[in-house]
Amino acid sequence: GSLKIYDKLQEEINKNGLSKEVQVVKTGCFGLCANGPIMIVYPEGTFYSMVNVEDIPEIVSEHLLKGRIVTRLVYQETVEEDGIKSLNDTDFYKNQHRVALRNCGVINPECIDEYIGRDGYQALGKVLTEMTPEEVIQCILDSGLRGRGGGGFPTGRKWQLARNIVPNADQKYVCCNADEGDPGAFMDRSVLEGDPHVVLEAMAIAGYAIGATQGYIYVRAEYPIAVQRLEIAIKQAREYGLLGKNIFGTDFSFDIGLRLGAGAFVCGEETALMTSIEGNRGEPRPRPPFPAEKGLFQKPTILNNVETYANIPQIILKGADWFASMGTEKSKGTKVFALGGKIHNTGLVEVPMGTTLRTVIEEIGGGIPNGKKFKAAQTGGPSGGCIPAEHMDIAIDYDNLIAIGSMMGSGGLIVMDEDNCMVDIAKFFLEFTVDESCGKCTPCRIGTKRMYEILDKITKGKATLEDLDKLEELCYHVKANSLCGLGQTAPNPVLSTLRYFRDEYIAHIVEKR
Ligand code: SF4
Repeated sequence: GSLKIYDKLQEEINKNGLSKEVQVVKTGCFGLCANGPIMIVYPEGTFYSMVNVEDIPEIVSEHLLKGRIVTRLVYQETVEEDGIKSLNDTDFYKNQHRVALRNCGVINPECIDEYIGRDGYQALGKVLTEMTPEEVIQCILDSGLRGRGGGGFPTGRKWQLARNIVPNADQKYVCCNADEGDPGAFMDRSVLEGDPHVVLEAMAIAGYAIGATQGYIYVRAEYPIAVQRLEIAIKQAREYGLLGKNIFGTDFSFDIGLRLGAGAFVCGEETALMTSIEGNRGEPRPRPPFPAEKGLFQKPTILNNVETYANIPQIILKGADWFASMGTEKSKGTKVFALGGKIHNTGLVEVPMGTTLRTVIEEIGGGIPNGKKFKAAQTGGPSGGCIPAEHMDIAIDYDNLIAIGSMMGSGGLIVMDEDNCMVDIAKFFLEFTVDESCGKCTPCRIGTKRMYEILDKITKGKATLEDLDKLEELCYHVKANSLCGLGQTAPNPVLSTLRYFRDEYIAHIVEKR
């Protein structure tokens, strides 16, 4: 409903003769999706939430004309007995630390000047005029940044391999994975919609570091606003000489093209993504060779996801030590999560690595609605696993999540309460994987289907305990023998629910006897 609110605001502002004094700026997502549509009035910083078109005349006549805040529309968490507190002091925001999302909800994503006004393209200027490619790579290595797409591979190491492995390559590529397809994940979409230039700037920095002159962003066609804003951003960056030939007057040239994905989840897998950019059916290919050696069009290539890139300019400007000071020993920086499911504050949050699940769910997320009890949270979507209540105080980082049978994934975090059946949850994710399996290799194509059939039997009360053993055995076969990450991780939701909620599987079997 925000666009209707925008139109009404313009209409009322014009009607009241305020068009010279008040500017209405469209921004990206501010994170608090559960309370949208929102608007913030500056300079006061008044945060209005759940705004309707019918509220606009009152906001204009009271707040903009008379300077009187419309208290009933103010985000209730900011309201105190003696006034209104800062948004940064609310439960939703006070434990957050915004690095990747720092411009989302703050700048107009369709205006390059606003990005530049927030230090945009300064990092690119710095690397081109003050740093060698090796120094850039060392900075990223020292920062400890790991890939935010799920794998957690050290980003600087990836860049280093792509720079050195084929030193005399006539062409190298920088790719961005914006094919976010996990159910419940919308982190990358928000960055692209709210701050598209940060991705362009980071890709150009990566191009300089590895010696590439061409980049591609592979973005889902289902994200039309993100596509549109990327198109605008690329056009503006070219007009400003920040993409194209001789950037900042140096001999470095770099340009970026967009490629739209047609909705196949497997195209988020790096080799399938590159195959799709090449114009072929998006199927994974065996590794080695790894993309750093033979990637897109058989040339050395790096692929990072949107959130990974969104950290790069800040690391360059503020230094590796600044970034490495946040997070845990082996997982540095922050992580963006899309909070969904049975939780009060559904939305987008960014917290330092090492924050506990309890803080994310109870403080930032506002807890579980209707007085229900927390049961588990699923991280990593169909590739990940569930975290039960007994692990709520574990520090969230790459290694801790793997140790308890889950994984970071790209950042979808779906909360389940006591009413959710964990067998149904596992079945839901497996059904998704069965649909999305590309069919190239047998363990995944056939194995996930057989697993689904057993799960279906279990939920319909037709399974035996032997079926449960078969299901578990099949999980390990599919994990070990599938060609790509989709099949290798597909059994995770089943394995982790079996690990923590086996009694629910058995109850389905025993109850029906
Ligand atoms: Fe395709 Fe699944 Fe094999 Fe990956 S694991 S190549 S998605 S069939």
